[in-house]
Amino acid sequence: MNKKQLSLLIALGMTSQLVQATEAPIALAIHGGAGTIEKAKFTPEQEQAYRQTLKQALETGYQLLEEGKPSLDAVTAAIIVLENSPFFNAGKGAVYTFDGEHELDASIMDGQSRQAGAVAGVKRIENPITLARKVMTDSVHVMLSGEGAESFAKQQGVALVDNKLFDTPFRYDALLKAKEKLEKAKNHTKDYQAAHFALPMEFKMGTVGAVALDKLGNLAAGTSTGGMTAKRFGRVGDSPIIGAGTFADNRSCAVSATGHGEYFIRYSVASDICARVAYQGKSIEKAGNEVIHDVLAPIGGTGGVIIVDSKGNISMPFNTPGMYRASKSSTSPTYVAIFKEE
Ligand code: ASP
Repeated sequence: MNKKQLSLLIALGMTSQLVQATEAPIALAIHGGAGTIEKAKFTPEQEQAYRQTLKQALETGYQLLEEGKPSLDAVTAAIIVLENSPFFNAGKGAVYTFDGEHELDASIMDGQSRQAGAVAGVKRIENPITLARKVMTDSVHVMLSGEGAESFAKQQGVALVDNKLFDTPFRYDALLKAKEKLEKAKNHTKDYQAAHFALPMEFKMGTVGAVALDKLGNLAAGTSTGGMTAKRFGRVGDSPIIGAGTFADNRSCAVSATGHGEYFIRYSVASDICARVAYQGKSIEKAGNEVIHDVLAPIGGTGGVIIVDSKGNISMPFNTPGMYRASKSSTSPTYVAIFKEE
């Protein structure tokens, strides 16, 4: 733009629009799990409360992006809001294991450096996403599990909390119902597995996650979960596994997944989506739809993903009746949704 054009814009009072249009794009998307989430299952008040919490998580993260903070900060801040809410299966409100405890998994990835951190099966960490981030920044490892992860937390000055902090009556009830179904299979491994697969989706899902693009063009992704109701034997799902539940690379996209973890692990869902973008030149919308609807759905892999690319495009495909989700970018207004047709 030459001087003459600029002075014309100033005269027309159009400089603020100009700044907006030329400023680097930012974007944030969050999810609170996918599953049999249908309108009939909510009172209007409950639905409103879920939407409100999603909006609060979105705004908390988005404000940081507007201030020019890194996408890693926005992802962490949004996830902390969702971990602290009893509505979602992460942190407070996490599902119960077969033995009546909570074992939490989380991971985070930096799309600029491809550094990543994860924790699996932690019982005493209030906000597992912050510990995953510490694993990334303050250890030489990518994933720490169980008591070892908690020793690392202690060393890092992260407070250890009582596992009961994550208790909620609604999740306990879900455990009792799930165990009733599983008892019928008498715990013989194969029957047990069959019974586990037969559990309704709401016993399995509710993970939270966030993906973001910051003003410097850096992508980040994070995911946090309590896993699946009545899980046992130290079961770990896809959420803390880089490439399955979480992935970020500035050259393609950032993804956070939610769904039946065993499928997401076996099909490397998050990295498969980004690989289609990187190597096949596909849009995130096409790549996400292919993996969620054409790869996972036919084999019974239920769930969804949130995706953001380096231009600030957002896509949130899922193959379940609903997925708690919200998004905002420099070019798209606040969007909060739960059910399929929204
Ligand atoms: N993916 C999580 C897991 O398998 C569960 C979920 O997303 O709801 O542990």
